[in-house]
Amino acid sequence: MAEPEGFRLRFTSSGVGYPLIELPIQKFLGHHHEMSGVELVDGSAVPLETGLVAMGSHYHNEYLQGIDLEKNGKNLVTDSMCRTSHPRIFALGDLKDGLNQVSIAVADGTLAATAIWRDIRRASPARRWQQNIQTITEPIGVVS
Ligand SMILES: Cc1cc2nc3c(=O)[nH]c(=O)nc-3n(C[C@H](O)[C@H](O)[C@H](O)COP(=O)(O)OP(=O)(O)OC[C@H]3O[C@@H](n4cnc5c(N)ncnc54)[C@H](O)[C@@H]3O)c2cc1C
Repeated sequence: MAEPEGFRLRFTSSGVGYPLIELPIQKFLGHHHEMSGVELVDGSAVPLETGLVAMGSHYHNEYLQGIDLEKNGKNLVTDSMCRTSHPRIFALGDLKDGLNQVSIAVADGTLAATAIWRDIRRASPARRWQQNIQTITEPIGVVS
């Protein structure tokens, strides 16, 4: 790609050579539903054939600030069932340490739900079906 005047370019330290342009896009350019580039807020145009609109990702974890939870960088550390260092707080998906992928987040939900169900089960034993218990504990007649 040619480097039009007015570009603010930054190259990645890995040296792969792709330019990083950190200016907001003003509008998409093209004809007959075919993209030809983008115009930036400074009026410069970047010729492009393809665009990928990325929504970005932001960790909405501000509400956890006051809670002392073990972290690895920004991510919460969990055990194999997604339990954090607090026994009643579970972390799933992007919030926790690990791969940021949909399939992982879904699996995390299953693990955490199972762990929570087990906790509840241990804390309160199965409800007794009292009426039925009385019926079956009545003395059984002897048939001669
Ligand atoms: C541009 C992009 C492309 C990606 N492509 C892929 C891909 O191709 N394949 C793949 O597997 N993964 C992909 N990912 C990663 C994937 O989207 C995430 O790993 C996954 O969505 C994480 O799921 P999550 O449930 O942890 O978080 P999210 O999907 O972010 O869900 C969290 C939800 O909680 C809501 N929320 C946040 N705070 C609060 C609050 N206080 N109260 C109520 N609700 C709240 C948010 O609005 C959001 O809906 C991509 C991510 C990005 C950003």
